Amino acid sequence: MNFNLTDDQRAVREAVATFAAREIAPNAAAWDRDHTFPVDVFAALGEIGIMGMSVSEKYGGAQLDAISVAISIEEISRADAGVGVTVSVHAGLITRIIEQFAREELRVAYLPKMCAGEWLGGFALTEAESGSDASALRTRAVRDGDHYVLDGRKQWVTNAGFAKALVIFARTGGAGPKGISAFLVDRETPGLMLGRKTEKLGIHSSDTTDVVLEGARVPADRLLGSEGEGYKIALASLGIGRLGIAAQSVGILAACLDTAQAYARDRRQFGSPIGHFQAVAFKIADMAVDLDAARLLLYRAAWMKDQGMQVLDASSKAKLFASTAARKHAAECVQVLGGYGYTTEFPAERYYRDAKITEIYEGTSEVQRILIARELLGRL
Ligand SMILES: Cc1cc2nc3c(=O)[nH]c(=O)nc-3n(C[C@H](O)[C@H](O)[C@H](O)COP(=O)(O)OP(=O)(O)OC[C@H]3O[C@@H](n4cnc5c(N)ncnc54)[C@H](O)[C@@H]3O)c2cc1C
Repeated sequence: MNFNLTDDQRAVREAVATFAAREIAPNAAAWDRDHTFPVDVFAALGEIGIMGMSVSEKYGGAQLDAISVAISIEEISRADAGVGVTVSVHAGLITRIIEQFAREELRVAYLPKMCAGEWLGGFALTEAESGSDASALRTRAVRDGDHYVLDGRKQWVTNAGFAKALVIFARTGGAGPKGISAFLVDRETPGLMLGRKTEKLGIHSSDTTDVVLEGARVPADRLLGSEGEGYKIALASLGIGRLGIAAQSVGILAACLDTAQAYARDRRQFGSPIGHFQAVAFKIADMAVDLDAARLLLYRAAWMKDQGMQVLDASSKAKLFASTAARKHAAECVQVLGGYGYTTEFPAERYYRDAKITEIYEGTSEVQRILIARELLGRL
């Protein structure tokens, strides 16, 4: 076993961490407070290859390995988890789907601008009445000549308010997973409208918007894969996309450790730094252990992907562990900072609010346990 990063992977970490420290971290508190979606940052991330990091060079991508992709999302999320999820959905999920399942003309039309960070992508699976049970979705796509006509409403689509390309899942057949197809839909499509913008607990620098489809006419060649393959595409892509959320969680956890460690050294009570009190020091020790464990699970899963191995189980484990640890230690980070941790003077309260979502999206922790148990016990 070799736990060393390669020179290239170390260079990616250094480049992204430097970018994040200069362009993202200094603004994160203000973006959070003002709910700003920092559009310009994504063009700048495009310039350093991050928005196309999973895409082949022939479409303008940087074609990084999965470990480098995880490291990049981790370093961005360490500075701002809202920017982290935007990048994770765009570069870890959508651009991959387009390269893998769209027709060549669509790859050529979309990927170069998406790699440049000029166009963003969104993934529209969830509906008001189908979340964990995505196979119950109701949005319909009916074939009409050389088009499909889409009707329905997609809920909580990350990036939708700023996206050019949306991967939309809709029902072309009967009930259940086999009746679902996936489409690459342009934002400008007549009949596609933005719905409610969601106010949320955290990740305020990310955009979460509903998408309304009323007779949206989508050319038939925008079908991804074949009719009825949509659910398979969703599950397979989320299996990889989950590595992005595990990486986001690791980034938040790393930020919690940085913040708690620095504070415990500086803050004095009863005549000594609070880090000298075992009750505080042990919180920081536990944070460091879980950070290592979460990172190792994440990098192992990413390494397996790079070896061409099946990663669904490994990515569920990484996401489950890293998100649980991020939520738990973000609360402990606030505790280490005491009253200051509860104020917006320090970033601990932002980590606390941001961490919670990692246990929910791209499959809740309960859903990850179901998937892991299914590997061990068969269908429950
Ligand atoms: C900020 C944000 C961004 C999002 N971005 C996107 C996006 O870009 N694209 C997209 O398609 N969706 C997105 N989502 C939706 C997200 O993926 C869903 O919220 C998530 O999958 C859970 O679905 P739900 O909220 O409907 O919860 P439900 O499925 O209703 O679950 C409610 C509770 O019941 C539990 N539960 C459900 N079924 C079971 C079961 N069989 N066994 C045990 N427990 C169960 C869940 O774990 C959860 O605790 C986003 C959501 C948020 C909040």
